[in-house]
Amino acid sequence: MKVFDLHQDILYHIIENPKNSEILKSYKNIGIEKFIFAIFPFRGFYEFYDVEEPLIYTLRGVEIAYEIERKFHLKIIKRKSDLKNGNIILAVEGLYFVRTIYEIRAVHRLGIRSLGLVWNKDNLICSYWNSKNDYGLTDLGYDVINEAIKLNMAIDLAHCSDKTFFDVLKSFNKNIFVSHTGLRELNNIKRNLSEDMIYEISKINGIVGIAFGDIFLSKLSLKEIAKYLSKLIEKFPYNLSIGSDFYGVSREHQIRNLNNPKHLKNLYNALLEYLPNQTIENFFYRNAYMFFNNVLNGSLSNK
Ligand SMILES: [Zn+2]
Repeated sequence: MKVFDLHQDILYHIIENPKNSEILKSYKNIGIEKFIFAIFPFRGFYEFYDVEEPLIYTLRGVEIAYEIERKFHLKIIKRKSDLKNGNIILAVEGLYFVRTIYEIRAVHRLGIRSLGLVWNKDNLICSYWNSKNDYGLTDLGYDVINEAIKLNMAIDLAHCSDKTFFDVLKSFNKNIFVSHTGLRELNNIKRNLSEDMIYEISKINGIVGIAFGDIFLSKLSLKEIAKYLSKLIEKFPYNLSIGSDFYGVSREHQIRNLNNPKHLKNLYNALLEYLPNQTIENFFYRNAYMFFNNVLNGSLSNK
């Protein structure tokens, strides 16, 4: 089993307590070859600041990621040639510090290759899923995505509002993915995607990472999740992936036997009851690999 996880929040916990980095030692042994290291731009989950705090936490997260690269021999992926042997793709979860495209160029120089447009608070780029005033993608947001695509960065629509989602898809047809989401058919909240939205992502060769927690998948057991996902994977065999959100889901919302990287094996085994090996491999690893292969290559055509 090889895993390419599109969203993990471990870095946030490492910033809180460096001892939490110890888990990374076991990653290669448990099959986690590649993962997106989300840099969370706030300190407390519900204390919001304007520009200063997100900028400080993004910069701090970048530097700690480079420390981890050295300490645990996990290579940060910056270009296509790094993808084969590299391990970490650096991402920011919300562009709260961005006022012009210069900030995008700067974080690209720092090695960030995936831009989450927003988290659980509106910003100058776009509105988020539970926005009181769903204004969608702003002019600045449009410029930011344009610039990011030129720089071969991925655009992550997790946490976006419906209007933002469709505004982006109206104007862009490459480098777009959703790193961690659930399914509205299971839990009908706007934080999750509907199958129709997954279909829209599949039309532009994007990918969608499935996250594990009851807000994403409702209160199903691991077995029920495997059964449900196997049908969805059959519908979208090349466009679904893992986006675990491990370490980002609070204890009371976690799924039994599917709440940390060591548990991915449980899901793999449960899926074997329904799907051939190769299809599961695609879901766990190859689909995400091929997406980033295209992003880092700049190979897909734009509208
Ligand atoms: Zn998130």
